[in-house]
Amino acid sequence: MNITYHSTRNDQLSYTASQAILSGIAPDGGLFVPSSIPTLPITLEELSSKTYQEIAFVVMKEFLSDFSDEEIKQSIQVYNEKFDTPAVTPLVKAGDFHYLELFHGPTIAFKDMALSILPQLMTISTKKNNIKEDIVILTATSGDTGKAALVGFSEVPHTKIIVFYPKNGVSEIQEKQMLTQKGNNVHVVSIEGNFDDAQTQVKQLFADEKLRAELEENQLRFSSANSINIGRLIPQIIYYVYSYAQLIKDNTIKAGESINVAVPTGNFGNILAAYYAKEMGIPINKLIVASNENNVLTDFFTSGTYDRNRDFILTSSPSMDILVSSNLERLLYHLSGNDTKLVAGYMNSLSQEGIYKITADMLTKASDFYANFASEKDVKDQIQRTNEEAGYIIDPHTAVAAFVANQYKEATDDQTEIVIASTASPYKFPLAVLEAAVANFSNDSLEASLQQLKELTGVPFPNAVNEALHDPILHDTTVKVSEMKEIVKKKLGLQ
Ligand SMILES: *Cc1c(COP(=O)(O)O)cnc(C)c1O
Repeated sequence: MNITYHSTRNDQLSYTASQAILSGIAPDGGLFVPSSIPTLPITLEELSSKTYQEIAFVVMKEFLSDFSDEEIKQSIQVYNEKFDTPAVTPLVKAGDFHYLELFHGPTIAFKDMALSILPQLMTISTKKNNIKEDIVILTATSGDTGKAALVGFSEVPHTKIIVFYPKNGVSEIQEKQMLTQKGNNVHVVSIEGNFDDAQTQVKQLFADEKLRAELEENQLRFSSANSINIGRLIPQIIYYVYSYAQLIKDNTIKAGESINVAVPTGNFGNILAAYYAKEMGIPINKLIVASNENNVLTDFFTSGTYDRNRDFILTSSPSMDILVSSNLERLLYHLSGNDTKLVAGYMNSLSQEGIYKITADMLTKASDFYANFASEKDVKDQIQRTNEEAGYIIDPHTAVAAFVANQYKEATDDQTEIVIASTASPYKFPLAVLEAAVANFSNDSLEASLQQLKELTGVPFPNAVNEALHDPILHDTTVKVSEMKEIVKKKLGLQ
């Protein structure tokens, strides 16, 4: 079947996969959804003998209907080249759970799973649609997305990327990772403000008609690498299919047996990919939505009301500090039986009043999801407990998921095997991990902490750590929010 894409808010206009990837967001502000969710074309037994790359091909071919086999295979090469293990996403058993390690890419966070392949998909999409302009990626980041996007787009022909981050809003290692980024087409700018300020201004720049026209005169056009791009969602489905295949292969389950999946959730992209894997035919029973103290999703799945009118809390799992989970819009579309008018109404109410309530029927359909949250203390305790009981060190984001997975087990007595999406290497959040796992930890310097973490985990420094510690700092621009437009023009050579 030939899958096309349309907006969650209007199903009249249809786009090819490549057009949806290039546009990022639909013109009416909605997100692109597939015209139907394809069924896996091979059996679960057949899956179990396949490599990550082979499964990637099977999944992507179903969704990228205007890409040739050759183009998909060529894109998938990144999983051979940029990941530090042939398994790509190893599945590690520790204690009661199976941890799906999604952090073996160049920036040691799960964002690499999609952002390392998105540039290939975009480049192919520009050729396919005869786009002559160079692509300019603008991104605001609270840490992980920025570096993953920089690495992904660095030196990719006919692309440029500008990343904005809040000057005092990212961890020391995250900042070093970005400021050491090489590449003639990459720009990193810190702003005097918080992440929301950066994000809001980037959205305004995207919507700025005059700026768009100026770009066009200079053979440039904006595109977006953030997690609402369907080109980021599709590659994330692969690892859920792969983890199921691994569990059959190592005789943990028989083909057809159900598993549960627990995901530390922020923008709802990662867990939505698990939902798509389920809809494609992977026997996933419960989708466990794990939040930190910004628990807007826990309340939503419990009550049916989404209410963003609450305080924003800074936690030790910053990549999940979010009050508007953009990708939830796609789930609303599916739960409503593809009712674009209803979704448009909810989103309007969200932007006007910060709140909406779904129908009782939709809430019933959402019962595949279990949602709960971990407090800061729960996260700390979980890191310590997983180390003590299983000798396995997890980062704060993964700990949120492990804690909520335990809550689920206790609440239900369900003995189904649980796969936990392990979204960041502990090396990315050394202080939070050491404070939890080591009694009387004292923070002397970043280097000393990393060294201590190395002794604790027994895992050598990934490349990303060595680079952050030793590579020269290459970027040093800081601007006010009001100066972001000027700096974009300057970096693009428009003035
Ligand atoms: C982005 C991120 C998340 C949240 O993923 P979503 O797809 O936004 O729900 C969780 N953990 C880490 C480490 C991340 O970088």
